[in-house]
Amino acid sequence: MILTHEFAHARDHLVDGSIDGIFADIDANTFDNAIEASKERVNNGSAEGLFNADYASTNDQEFLAEMFEGYYLDPVLFKERFPEFTEALGETFDHLDEVISLLDFNEEAKSEIFDTYRNM
Ligand SMILES: [Zn+2]
Repeated sequence: MILTHEFAHARDHLVDGSIDGIFADIDANTFDNAIEASKERVNNGSAEGLFNADYASTNDQEFLAEMFEGYYLDPVLFKERFPEFTEALGETFDHLDEVISLLDFNEEAKSEIFDTYRNM
């Protein structure tokens, strides 16, 4: 589900106005450590079956977005493979789950999200 990839960019954008692969509302040390640990896990094959490791390595923004895509593809497997990231973002995922389930996205809203965040 590509929309979750774009949601990650949207969230990245909304917290501090820049799409930089950093969720500025999460403690910077916690976030950095989680990303660093996750990149190492991706290098050791943990992305397999969850998301595109090559695309994730494009830059920090795409890394974050692909991680989200992996989470929404298979949350149970993702949590096993990426414990640091899951812990650092824990409530974020819950909140996003809620938001996605509450919002009734029509086709127009979806294409707006795509137009705004596509190819980012
Ligand atoms: Zn992207």
